[in-house]
Amino acid sequence: MAFDIDTAVALLEQEVRNYQVPVVDLIAAQTRDPFKVLVATILSARTRDEVTAAAARRLFARAATPAALAALDEKTLQKIIYPVGFFRNKARYLAALPGVLEREFQGRVPDTVEALTRLPGVGRKTANLVVAVAFNKPAICVDTHVHRIMNIWGYVHTRTPLQTEMALREKLPRRYWIRINSLLVAFGQGTCRPQRPRCDRCVLAAICPRIGVTPAKSSGSGRPADGRLRMVSWNVNGLRAVLKKGFLDTLHELDADIFAIQEIKAMPEQLPDEVKHVPGYHVYWNPARRKGYSGTAVFCRQRPLDVVQGLGLEEPDREGRVQLLEYKDFFLVNSYFPNAGPGLKRLEFKLAFDRAMRGLLDRLSAKKSVVLCGDLNVAHREIDLANPVGNENNPGFSAPERAWMDELVGAGYVDTFRCFNQEPEHYTWWSYRFNARARNIGWRIDYFIVDPGSRDRVLAAAIHDDVQGSDHCPVSIEFR
Ligand code: SF4
Repeated sequence: MAFDIDTAVALLEQEVRNYQVPVVDLIAAQTRDPFKVLVATILSARTRDEVTAAAARRLFARAATPAALAALDEKTLQKIIYPVGFFRNKARYLAALPGVLEREFQGRVPDTVEALTRLPGVGRKTANLVVAVAFNKPAICVDTHVHRIMNIWGYVHTRTPLQTEMALREKLPRRYWIRINSLLVAFGQGTCRPQRPRCDRCVLAAICPRIGVTPAKSSGSGRPADGRLRMVSWNVNGLRAVLKKGFLDTLHELDADIFAIQEIKAMPEQLPDEVKHVPGYHVYWNPARRKGYSGTAVFCRQRPLDVVQGLGLEEPDREGRVQLLEYKDFFLVNSYFPNAGPGLKRLEFKLAFDRAMRGLLDRLSAKKSVVLCGDLNVAHREIDLANPVGNENNPGFSAPERAWMDELVGAGYVDTFRCFNQEPEHYTWWSYRFNARARNIGWRIDYFIVDPGSRDRVLAAAIHDDVQGSDHCPVSIEFR
């Protein structure tokens, strides 16, 4: 049966009244100024609305016109718009914008998609949004939400946003063109989310075919009714750096109930409020005493019963390497294992840490389930790195480090990723050198391990190697 677009749009118009208005629409409604809409749209790419709104406010206080923007250099612009995603690129585009507007468009923002795409940093999506929102002319802005939801509805069957735009131009009644982006962005952020959409509370539940969707179920307690938790672990290799590369977007996109990170390399007081107070999450910090080094943190939707920082070993604990969160029916151990170091100079230190960690896991698993996550700084088997022969006895693949993993797995602890995937070439870390990530010359050294009795509680395990921002990528499990 064909999807009933008129009913869907009518229901969504009612529904999104209670939602936050997307930032670009808000700026358009407040200012009716094409220049500000254009700038806000450039800022908004891969950035949360709250961050875009704050950056736009700061920028418009200094530069509300092309002439005022021309007076700001690129470095100043970077400082003003930080921490929007890709702020360096965006500062470059904004610095070039007044010149191009002056040279090619007599200082005015043009009102066609073709002309707008000649401006720096303006692609088809941005151009369509500016035409629709700033000039109120028919244009369809297809972003990730519009593309995704239109395919979920089966209204289009497309593989790329551009194909979706072209299909919608053929099919979508013109009266919906301007409005559809704003509707679906709000709806896609609030209900039909990329991860686990809330079909249980969706006004379209009766008419949506839910193509390719795994919905979340709600108990109303903040924890899904089926008890399923999504846990993510990521060595961010410097939280301040990864914040500039969309860390908060990744946190929201991966939609984790527990998001454990390693190598934060920062004290909480060095971090902006937006990461210290993420709506919907409690956060527990365990920085190293030495500034700019090591450290761990956990963001979690449910407050744990107890939190213990450290393993009980003086030096690793000074380095902020271990956090233990206790929940009703499991323990979570977030850990950044030491690196054995060049020439294996720190091997003994690492092996002492390994032994203490094994003791902790055994003690905890005698009480209830244990989930160990983090950067273990060891590839277990040949299949877990691209070049095993060349790395024999290098840190992270030395015989003693691998023997510890052998013993752990031999005792029944479960390397969850290998329960679901036995294929080679799945890695979680790539050197920054030699273009290693693009060539997939990597190592799998980030894990979720569970105790022997908890194998059946793990429903899925994944590596998110599409997520950029660090030399590691996130790993995750679904745990019930
Ligand atoms: S029913 Fe589910 S998949 Fe369909 S629109 Fe609603 S939230 Fe999205």
